[in-house]
Amino acid sequence: MAAKHILAIDQGTTSTRAIVFDDGGRPVASAQKELPQIFPKPGWVEHDAEEIWSATVEVCRGALAKARLDAKALAGIGITNQRETTVVWDRNTGKPIHNAIVWQDRRTADRCEALRRGGHEAEVTAKTGLILDPYFSGTKIAWILDHVAGSRAAAEKGALAAGTIECFLLWRLTGGKVHASDATNASRSLLLDIHTGDWDAGLLKLIGVPAPLLPKVVDCSGELGVAMADILGAPVPVLGMAGDQQAATVGQACVKPGMVKATYGTGCFAILNTGSIAVRSHNRLLTTIAYQLAGRRTYALEGSIFIAGAAVQWLRDGLHLIAKSSDVEQVAAHAKPDHGVYMVPAFVGLGAPYWDAGARGALLGLTRDTGPAEIAAATLDSVCYQTRDLVDAIRGDGAQIDELRVDGGMVVNDPLMQRLADTVGMQVERPQVVETTALGAAFLAGLHAGLWPSLDALSKTWTLDRAFRPMEDAASRDRRYVGWRNAVQRVRSS
Ligand code: ADP
Repeated sequence: MAAKHILAIDQGTTSTRAIVFDDGGRPVASAQKELPQIFPKPGWVEHDAEEIWSATVEVCRGALAKARLDAKALAGIGITNQRETTVVWDRNTGKPIHNAIVWQDRRTADRCEALRRGGHEAEVTAKTGLILDPYFSGTKIAWILDHVAGSRAAAEKGALAAGTIECFLLWRLTGGKVHASDATNASRSLLLDIHTGDWDAGLLKLIGVPAPLLPKVVDCSGELGVAMADILGAPVPVLGMAGDQQAATVGQACVKPGMVKATYGTGCFAILNTGSIAVRSHNRLLTTIAYQLAGRRTYALEGSIFIAGAAVQWLRDGLHLIAKSSDVEQVAAHAKPDHGVYMVPAFVGLGAPYWDAGARGALLGLTRDTGPAEIAAATLDSVCYQTRDLVDAIRGDGAQIDELRVDGGMVVNDPLMQRLADTVGMQVERPQVVETTALGAAFLAGLHAGLWPSLDALSKTWTLDRAFRPMEDAASRDRRYVGWRNAVQRVRSS
């Protein structure tokens, strides 16, 4: 019998998941493990890369066991990952020389500021489509080399390897045979020229990253490597690889120019497919690679918000207002209408379109009768307002968008989805499979395995679960939004 299943690895910020999909794009079985967060200092976030690796192996084996499948039944593996999170490891031993520095980490803010003051942002943006922000992986690599004794010299000699999580996992899966990053992940480094698809020598010098450290840049679908037999019981080819937001774009079948999706997990990321044109934003959105197939790049405009579901986690773990994330729905339901409370979740600064690393969070508009319900409602509202910021920026860059496809852990919350539709003033569409990130990785692998002949064919598997139509009148919507813009103004650092 031909192998017809795909194993998707989704290595996220807060958990590591493996999902087995069948050839209809349906999830068959999954396994998941929480990933501990390490906060060494305010604004710093790390992960233990060894923990990421052992969890990956564990959930892959777990998902296969639940699906009652042998590794031989797998046509291939697709990998998707939290982007920008950076690992540097020893090529000989395979051991990381430092904890992984997570995308949310702000420790290189000063370095980015110095580069900006040095007048380098225009060149960096023209080549990479990004802005000078600590979010991206390049300055994180440089930081590790500057802080681990002897590592810069070792890197110059080619003794070390650097990469984001997909690259580290591919290296480990292949027993150190393959050091490669796909074009989407590579495009988040400040080191890649997105117009040529190659590392740029000038940028490497500017950011301070020696070339011998870097992986080969490859397509998102193809023969990327073979996972060693001792990992899953038989050798399995790795056929797909993409950063989580790009994978979700494919999983949401946003494969035509003009289609847009927003994913609500720890952060929120809106991505607009712009086809073969790398559109330059005038509203501080990022230009990035959506996917690269057979050497051809499809581009996207992206709005990145650092804190979405993480604000709900803060209600749970910081304020102890709720016991579990889903409780937020019940608590917020009791908020007084027109409570006037705004929560700006700038815990790690503000992302698009503000890009203010120095901003910090705030609760505004408190009165004597403000209680947990209003704080919970304001927290959920902040997710909607931040989306409106992005939608306005995307429209400001000339795109006409009429509906928003949504996915991620937060979209199970129906009242939140309704509020989102009201706040952005357009239809919000939730698909049946909300694990679109993993699905996208499976699609990319399945494309190469021949399970789907084309992107068009796989987009036919997308099915709507529920559409949320805006019900609020425009005047009320805009009045609420003006309040948000004022609240943001109050927390800006400059
Ligand atoms: P990631 O992949 O970034 O780790 P997920 O896609 O798993 O995140 O989404 C989890 C996020 O969704 C968490 O931050 C959690 O607080 C939030 N969340 C989960 N359930 C709900 C809910 N019912 N309402 C609002 N937020 C929720």
